[in-house]
Amino acid sequence: MGEKKLGIVYHSDFLIHNQPGHSERKERLQALLTQLDNENLFEKLVQLEPLPARSEEVEKVHSFDQIAQIRSLCKFQKSQLDADTYLVPQSYDVALLSVGAALKAMRSVMDGKLNVCFSLGRPPGHHAEPHLSMGFCLFNNIAIAARLAQEEYGLKRILILDWDVHHGNGTQKTFYHQDNVLFISVHQSPAYPGTGHIYETGAGAGAGYNVNIPLPPGSGDAEYSRAFTEIVRPLAERYQPELVMISAGQDAYHGDPLANMALTYKGFAEMARHAKEIAGPVGGKIVLTLEGGYHLRGQAEAVITVLSELGNWGRPIKEEPVLPAKPVYDDPERIIAEVKRHHNLK
Ligand SMILES: [Zn+2]
Repeated sequence: MGEKKLGIVYHSDFLIHNQPGHSERKERLQALLTQLDNENLFEKLVQLEPLPARSEEVEKVHSFDQIAQIRSLCKFQKSQLDADTYLVPQSYDVALLSVGAALKAMRSVMDGKLNVCFSLGRPPGHHAEPHLSMGFCLFNNIAIAARLAQEEYGLKRILILDWDVHHGNGTQKTFYHQDNVLFISVHQSPAYPGTGHIYETGAGAGAGYNVNIPLPPGSGDAEYSRAFTEIVRPLAERYQPELVMISAGQDAYHGDPLANMALTYKGFAEMARHAKEIAGPVGGKIVLTLEGGYHLRGQAEAVITVLSELGNWGRPIKEEPVLPAKPVYDDPERIIAEVKRHHNLK
């Protein structure tokens, strides 16, 4: 396999949405950009600049009132949307740009300019529900991009794989009643936001198309590997997605300060390899959007590990001393068996 055409979408305005001392801060992006630069990796990447999404585009997922509320809270310089989610006066505009970055990534892949495109937009999006923004997220970047991929390119089957350590409640809610998106979330449970149970499998036409894999804290490469091999791969095989989209949060990294998983860079590389193989039959089309990941060095290295795997760069996977994973509170094997049972997998 040769090198794939890879791109990133970035804008310096993503650094404006920032609150000193908050975990979801501009340094997350700065650390990544610095490392890409230090290793001269920008030359392997097509760099794209986003345009702000139009409010009609955001309204594909979010209510008019919700959008108006965020706009006016920013205008009146309110600093918090809720206890977790901060605002600065420019956050509304930056959030539109973050949605625009996901749209740019999706369109560049769908138009065939790139095989893979990683949107580095902030604020992140996967916790933002159709009527409620929350969890550091204002607008659901990936959900809006998926809706527009359906509208603009006539896609009938999109896989959204959410490997952020937290459940992608906003994305789940957006597509819960539809079969044109297969949503699979691998996350820590218990953890924020408390949703993402196995029995949340979709409803109506969407019954069976919402898949939650809630792994216990302490799960690591072996548990993720089983979840991908035994659940994600066979479900993707059954669904035959026309486009693979990934809510790429790197907070399952073992050193992450906001979560308790034990994933190493090898684990991230394996998830990326699975995604690449799933996307193989459709020309390797993958769109990624940045979600969480709060260990600055760890998330930067994890993102680069994923890019390297998707682009076949052959960059060695960084090894570091890690304590062996030790899942607590529940048995990953039982969870995986239970998920398989709910989705008729052998
Ligand atoms: Zn997260």
